[in-house]
Amino acid sequence: MIRLENLPNAQKRGLDLVKEVATEKELRPFLVGGPVRDLLLGRHDVIDIDLTLEDDASTLARAVAKKINGRLRSFPQFLTYKITADGLPEIDIATARKERYRSPGALPTVTAGRLKDDLLRRDFSINAMALDLTTGELHDPSGGERDLAAMAVRVLHDQSFIDDPTRIYRAVRLATRLGFSLEAHTARLLDRAVAEGALASIARERIWRELFLAFEEESAPNAVAALSAAGVLEVLFGRRPFDRDLEDRLRRTASALDGTSLDRQVMYTAALLHGNASPVDLEGSGFSQKRARNVVQLANELPRFTDALAETTSDHQRFRLFKHASPEMLSIVAAAVPEEQSNVVRFQEFQSFKLPLRGNDLEVPLGPHVAKALERTREAVFTGEIEHAEAKTFAREMAIKYLDSSGQ
Ligand code: ATP
Repeated sequence: MIRLENLPNAQKRGLDLVKEVATEKELRPFLVGGPVRDLLLGRHDVIDIDLTLEDDASTLARAVAKKINGRLRSFPQFLTYKITADGLPEIDIATARKERYRSPGALPTVTAGRLKDDLLRRDFSINAMALDLTTGELHDPSGGERDLAAMAVRVLHDQSFIDDPTRIYRAVRLATRLGFSLEAHTARLLDRAVAEGALASIARERIWRELFLAFEEESAPNAVAALSAAGVLEVLFGRRPFDRDLEDRLRRTASALDGTSLDRQVMYTAALLHGNASPVDLEGSGFSQKRARNVVQLANELPRFTDALAETTSDHQRFRLFKHASPEMLSIVAAAVPEEQSNVVRFQEFQSFKLPLRGNDLEVPLGPHVAKALERTREAVFTGEIEHAEAKTFAREMAIKYLDSSGQ
């Protein structure tokens, strides 16, 4: 039994609005796919509002958008509309469709269809249910409710993974998220599709997109480790043996990312490619040159970086190393090497530490040596090497020393 009363306010308002407009216009919208699955599982936190109609999707989309003064966008190739408005979740409205896969891995041809066609073209039985918003009736042509109870991800036919191999990634991701297993026959079909090279029929870009979605999961370390265990990352990275430490690295990455705005795609990719990354591995990822460099550096230099850190004997030496590291590298070091955690925090404090001293205060000719001297002084005061009161004299001495040694 689906209870819509328990939904968060914005979602409830969104659905009430759709129901109201549907009654006025005598239309019959169905809530479909992920939200129905999540409602049946009692996962009410946030559901997408994905709707399907057999007829007149455009009438409903226009009327809903008008009523709330929302923004309406149309995607004719998918027979879909999207409505956005302040204070409401995004509302997707689609015409029920039939799909045909002409060749494995290619995008399907789409034509309008009935609700049942629309449900049976979907990936898994638990994603192939619809809730009639006008009557409350559940449409479940492929036994999705039964599979939810069995905690199983099951494809709807034997050709499913061949038709669309991105479903291989979706199956693993969804099972991990929900704590489900692949139903036994589905697991065999998945293994067979991978063994027969089905993944080669899709563009690398599409595989990267799937991998990035795994990075977004709440349990990203589990999702990525499961993809690796299923052998479906080799198509991107070659026959690289993913070592036993992968799960640990992914977990450390998750904790380094926690509560930060660091680059999760860069960090998880680096955790995957640890010790052996090259720009070729990143083909199709869409990483800019700068982010790609960051991945390769993080993946390949972390061991060397932590070795070098272990050799340092002063804050001065340590800070010199930290200054050349990306924020991602620093946070991974803090997560990976417990002894360095407090040093990284100290360095972060140092980065925002300011000295009330300017180049003009030093009474020396201006030039690059002055900035260098001020930076050296800032560090000396922060680390306690000199007293605050000595800063100006120290900076002046440093500036003269640097100026002399530069031979000017
Ligand atoms: P999420 O919570 O990740 O958004 P979702 O199930 O809503 O989960 P979407 O990617 O938003 O996932 O897709 C919406 C629906 O479209 C799915 O529930 C599924 O029914 C269908 N779908 C998505 N991708 C595929 C695919 N590759 N093949 C078949 N059906 C698909």
